[in-house]
Amino acid sequence: MGKKPFLTLQQAQEIIADVPTPFHVYDEKGIRENARKLMKAFAWNKGFKEYFAVKATPNPYILKLLQEEGCGVDCSSYTELLMSEACGFTGHDIMFSSNVTPVEDMQKAAQMGAIINLDDYTHVEFLDKVAGIPETVCCRYNPGGEFAIDNAIMDTPGEAKYGMTKEQMKQAYKEMMAKGAKHFGIHAFLASNTVANEYYPALARILFQLAVELHEETGAHIAFVNLSGGVGIPYRPDQEATDIMAVGEGVRKAYEEILVPAGMDDLAIYTELGRFMLAPYGHLISTVLHQKHIYKEYLGLDACAANLMRPAMYGSYHHITVLGKEDQPCDHKYDVTGGLCENNDKFAIDRMLPKTEIGDIVAIHDTGAHGFAMGYNYNGKLRSAEVLLKEDGSHQLIRRAETPEDYFATFDFTPFFKK
Ligand SMILES: *Cc1c(COP(=O)(O)O)cnc(C)c1O
Repeated sequence: MGKKPFLTLQQAQEIIADVPTPFHVYDEKGIRENARKLMKAFAWNKGFKEYFAVKATPNPYILKLLQEEGCGVDCSSYTELLMSEACGFTGHDIMFSSNVTPVEDMQKAAQMGAIINLDDYTHVEFLDKVAGIPETVCCRYNPGGEFAIDNAIMDTPGEAKYGMTKEQMKQAYKEMMAKGAKHFGIHAFLASNTVANEYYPALARILFQLAVELHEETGAHIAFVNLSGGVGIPYRPDQEATDIMAVGEGVRKAYEEILVPAGMDDLAIYTELGRFMLAPYGHLISTVLHQKHIYKEYLGLDACAANLMRPAMYGSYHHITVLGKEDQPCDHKYDVTGGLCENNDKFAIDRMLPKTEIGDIVAIHDTGAHGFAMGYNYNGKLRSAEVLLKEDGSHQLIRRAETPEDYFATFDFTPFFKK
């Protein structure tokens, strides 16, 4: 039933002997197998490429691993570009999907030869001024209104800050063609964390139709459609996982119905998945430090929202396993908390778990994406270590934990000590 952690208590204890809790641990085997499944689902498309959304798990060891599986990277900032450069990503292995873009970021992306994805019509002139219009360029589309699948509203693009209108897209393409651009991409991100297999096919349909229209009206060569991120994962035990083979097949159908008849069958499909690539293959491992009973029963962990913000920020569900007690009945109700001076610092509220003791080790599931990445230093809490559980069962520290020296590194204390 439900969700099983990818490591045992014994494996966790072996790591803890080296690296104290809390830490995020990633499952190399799971990451590789999943990446291969994605490649297989889109193998029908000659130019298919996944550009892993660096923001989801910005760790060079993870990026290298995905690079070995054939992925590129999707960067949104200067430092993400630097990290990708250090990992050996170059040119069109990099998608630069930013918004409210600073000059230095745009120039760095251009200098690295990344595919630049423009968030706004005004960025045409901006890009031209700061770096020049490249031969290949992408524009982000926002259809406005509501985005629905089978009458179910998935999200409201009309309320989102991203992308341009259709008329702006046409104008942008025309102006960039006049400035020498030859190959164009279309990008849109219309719904986040959807496990519905219909999301990508529905999005693809909209973007393929737009590709045909843009090609017919402007004469532009549409080289690729970037379906971006948004494919979700089952955070809850009763949710069903996305069937990526069915997703690939749904996109293929749309491709054959819309692009092939229009003679646009050289168009490549790109994705910028973050969550789908990594989330299930990360756990936050933490020790139960304290237990208290007042009006409710509390378990206090050595991890807090600074290590995993999603429950506090979005009220997100993250499954919790008490390691070594996988087979015991979940007959105790707890609020599982961290130690921030914020009452929303709760990983779970009224969660049924086995009877839990101080010193027990818990695995908080699905922290492989948007987990460590959203970490922060509130209450003087330090960012945790990251560990890779390798395919052969050994482990590797891929980022050490922060120390107080790291926390203080941006201060200059010398004036306090001057006489
Ligand atoms: C966040 C983001 C992604 C990744 O989203 P996931 O939900 O993690 O798949 C991809 N592209 C862009 C532009 C993003 O902002």
